[in-house]
Amino acid sequence: MAFKTLDDLGHVSGKRALVRVDLNVPMQDGAVSDDTRLRATLPTVTELADKGAIVLLLAHFGRPKGDNRPDMSLSLVTRPYEQVLGRPVRFVGACAGELAAQNIAMLRAGDIAILENTRFHAGEERNDAELARAMAALGDFYVNDAFSAAHRAHASTEALAHLLPAFAGRAMEAELKALQKALGDPERPVAAVVGGAKVSSKLDVLTHLVTKVDHLVIGGGMANTFLAARGIDVGKSLCEHDLRDTALSILDAADRANCIVHLPYDVVVAKEFAANPPSLRTCNVHEVGADEMILDVGPAAVEALADAIKTCRTLIWNGPLGAFETPPFDAATVALARTAAALTQEGSLVSVAGGGDTVAALNQAGVADDFTFVSTAGGAFLEWMEGKELPGVKALQN
Ligand code: ADP
Ligand code: MG
Repeated sequence: MAFKTLDDLGHVSGKRALVRVDLNVPMQDGAVSDDTRLRATLPTVTELADKGAIVLLLAHFGRPKGDNRPDMSLSLVTRPYEQVLGRPVRFVGACAGELAAQNIAMLRAGDIAILENTRFHAGEERNDAELARAMAALGDFYVNDAFSAAHRAHASTEALAHLLPAFAGRAMEAELKALQKALGDPERPVAAVVGGAKVSSKLDVLTHLVTKVDHLVIGGGMANTFLAARGIDVGKSLCEHDLRDTALSILDAADRANCIVHLPYDVVVAKEFAANPPSLRTCNVHEVGADEMILDVGPAAVEALADAIKTCRTLIWNGPLGAFETPPFDAATVALARTAAALTQEGSLVSVAGGGDTVAALNQAGVADDFTFVSTAGGAFLEWMEGKELPGVKALQN
């Protein structure tokens, strides 16, 4: 994977850097409720500003679908961004055209500005060449630091990269290197943990992984679909019975590829889905009652999974092993996450995890910082796990 980074920039003082970042933060009562994405941009933005570039941030915010929506203006994010950055940040009320050009002409070396929501233009989501040319006219070079938007071929993530010298920002660079290390060119054996609610949402992930990894751990609600396909009665569990053939063909493909599939052999069940329900019990997968549902992987299976991971050099993880938001159904996820974190800290395991709920679960286990890399890019991370080429990444490689 060859792409240019900020190390390849020459002299940039006074030059205009168009930097695609992810500023699509959740808002509550006018305040940013989670500033993770804002903080992720800081290494690139401060580095460019310190080198004297005029830093112009391009981003989308919400889904205005080509309309000028004041409630989705990036002016709302400018103040919060300034606070996170600790430097003044200007706002430019357009991301293309005369007004933007005039405002940008007044900026000086080291200045930082947020340009208006790229999705106020219908051409953004169409990857429109004309819009990309209008954006390109505002800058001297292009930096993409938004891995989380790289699975979309949009004007600011794809077309624009072909019109100016293009570089990966620091966060993009770190993400690509970590993903390459975990699945592109990993140290073997490799284990993948795939959990979450439904098989249907991760079919392509499973299909791709069986050809790539040595151990595939299937947990969460999707394990139920596989257990049922093997003829096990999963009672009232979340289960996609119509995916029986699909599940069996994935198991077949794993067999042919010498990928060992790990399904739970003991499980935590309950008759009602509530915190610490009175009907809670642990049992063998063959003993689930008709009125019970599987809500977590059992302790014996977790111990076996930990042993399997101890033999591995690389781990990639997406999806919790159980309904982790509700105690005690976080136990398996937390226990396996702690094992992976400890192995990583000992230096025997490269561990990469991603997915909205997965990140939340790792934070709940208190081990997110102990993994080698935790990706906060939801859709892009999954598409990458599916083995797809991300348009925004590919455009940087040209
Ligand atoms: P991610 O966001 O990390 O990709 P998913 O969205 O695929 O993960 O899956 C997370 C969801 O799966 C959580 O809400 C969790 O409660 C649910 N889940 C996991 N195991 C089960 C289970 N056995 N029964 C029902 N829901 C489950
Ligand atoms: Mg999710």
